[in-house]
Amino acid sequence: MASPQPHDDTELAIEGALRPGSLADFVGQHKVRGQLQLLLDAARIQERPADHILLAGPPGLGKTTLAMIVAHESNRPLRMSSGPAIQHAGDLAALLSSLMPGEVLFIDEIHRMARSAEEMLYLAMEDFRIDIMVGKGAGATSIPLDLAPFTLVGATTRSGLLPNPLRDRFGFTAHLEYYEPEELERVIERSAGFLGVGLGGRERAEIARRSRGTPRIANRLLRRVRDYALVHAHGAAPELGDVRAALELYDVDAIGLDRLDRAVLDALVRRFRGGPVGLSTLAVAVGEEPDTVESVVEPYLVRIGFMGRTPRGRVATPEAYAHLGVAHPLGAPG
Ligand code: ADP
Repeated sequence: MASPQPHDDTELAIEGALRPGSLADFVGQHKVRGQLQLLLDAARIQERPADHILLAGPPGLGKTTLAMIVAHESNRPLRMSSGPAIQHAGDLAALLSSLMPGEVLFIDEIHRMARSAEEMLYLAMEDFRIDIMVGKGAGATSIPLDLAPFTLVGATTRSGLLPNPLRDRFGFTAHLEYYEPEELERVIERSAGFLGVGLGGRERAEIARRSRGTPRIANRLLRRVRDYALVHAHGAAPELGDVRAALELYDVDAIGLDRLDRAVLDALVRRFRGGPVGLSTLAVAVGEEPDTVESVVEPYLVRIGFMGRTPRGRVATPEAYAHLGVAHPLGAPG
């Protein structure tokens, strides 16, 4: 059933509106869904807040959406914050002490929280208690403060950066995987219905295939295709030609790599002759932050078998050479 067009057409508002509201509507990630469902059901039976949950995976795979679903399905309010907003232990103390009993606290990019806050969080997660330091120097004392029980949902694109004591305090860590094209087709079908875009199966499949395994990208490309059809086909249903033309216009290639993916591959293959090359050298070569290259670009290139990570650095595979149309130094693969 198609819902009415959202009034607020900003990208952020649309992204929010396209979020599935329940685990049943959440496409794919079967394993994680089952694990979460069990966790939530057990908490419901015992009438207690669910265990703390860590959601790990590249951007756009549904971490924020799942945090909202956890709150919604357990019928509890949700408080949203993020690592970069917690730069002092005091920021976290203020946040934790204002939580209502049973509230779900979502901390996005939890690996970017201040170290002092991380340490405060250990105790808060385990005992629902924090120690607040008052005064300075010899006269400083710590005052214990009891907290209302809460469920922490942390999200990270870099679970490797979390200190072990923090990682160990989550009752469950979900590793989100890139989506299969068929799953993305379902995401696109749902979103197209919501946006009121008539889209055939071939067109859906084409967008899905070029969405980098990522629902956020699938939704974004769908909106660009909708724009294209609006302008060039006077609002008629987009056809395959419109899909291809729109994606080409936005630099999405035939297998869904974007400008930055291709820049990284190109530097690796042409400039560094296939590697091995270190992450920071590669990032400087494409003018990006190493963090972005490592958490956004590399996981997908590794997943599709274009890049390998070795102890000596990143290497290009023969498939990467073939995609760029560059001859492999050892001749044709196979
Ligand atoms: P993250 O927090 O991992 O960066 P989000 O939860 O913000 O990702 O998801 C990005 C967008 O993709 C949202 O608009 C959401 O609706 C959509 N999305 C993500 N996962 C799914 C899914 N499994 N099913 C349907 N839509 C999804």
